[in-house]
Amino acid sequence: MEQRHGIEALTSGAMASVWEWTKSKIPSDLGVFDAHAHIGVDIDGRTMTGEGMRERMQAAGIVQSIVFPLNDPNARDDYSGPNDVVWSAYEDYPDLFVPFFRLNPHLDYDGEFARCIERGFEGLKLHPVSQEFELDNPKVVRLFGMAAGANIPVLIHAGFAMQRIVEPLLPTVEKHPNLRLILGHAAMVETLEAARQFEGHPNVLFETSVVQAKDLYVLFSSLDPGRISYGSDIPYGDYPSTLHATLAAADAAGVPDEHIPGILSGNIRRWFG
Ligand SMILES: [Zn+2]
Repeated sequence: MEQRHGIEALTSGAMASVWEWTKSKIPSDLGVFDAHAHIGVDIDGRTMTGEGMRERMQAAGIVQSIVFPLNDPNARDDYSGPNDVVWSAYEDYPDLFVPFFRLNPHLDYDGEFARCIERGFEGLKLHPVSQEFELDNPKVVRLFGMAAGANIPVLIHAGFAMQRIVEPLLPTVEKHPNLRLILGHAAMVETLEAARQFEGHPNVLFETSVVQAKDLYVLFSSLDPGRISYGSDIPYGDYPSTLHATLAAADAAGVPDEHIPGILSGNIRRWFG
């Protein structure tokens, strides 16, 4: 009941007309795919369970979400504990979740990488701010190569508090053209530069969660909408607000409605068969 109360507060009263407009932009037969959500516990006190995700998805009409750990205080050196929490949520709801695992590139990650690939995780999440690394750190570059070799996508936090994104990442993108990358938060501190530099690299997608309105507008104005994918960043974002922000920015930038199904689902869903 608490979760339903949550979405009701976000879609009623002063927000009712905003939610109505948002829903009017989403084709009724479209199953929305959320490219960025978390399950577990964060050192900042945020938490989310598989059941909490299921309730939020059902209330907002989301059919599938990529899920991965938070910056978990219980992470053992190799992140195996938080990765197990995500896997167990996936086992509870295999149709709802696409499980990604998380690693700390500073530590010995080979064992956990192999364990997660063997288990069936479908992607890797890296957070350069929380785990304090640069994208051109040799251990990170090696990890990108391992992901390319295992043919799994990597979602990178490329948002708040990032200093360098495009310049340290470009050599990896050029070396591994088949490596699928999701730029979480749309590289919001360097959106225009990222759109220009990665334009010719179709396996780099830009994900829209919790991006400033100005940067979302820049993104939709400067990049092929076939390269943009919706995300929520739950528990930091919520479905009504992030859907509205994404659709309002696309609308303001003049993106034709025919691109909405790709942005909300198809552009990334095709990666997961
Ligand atoms: Zn996140």
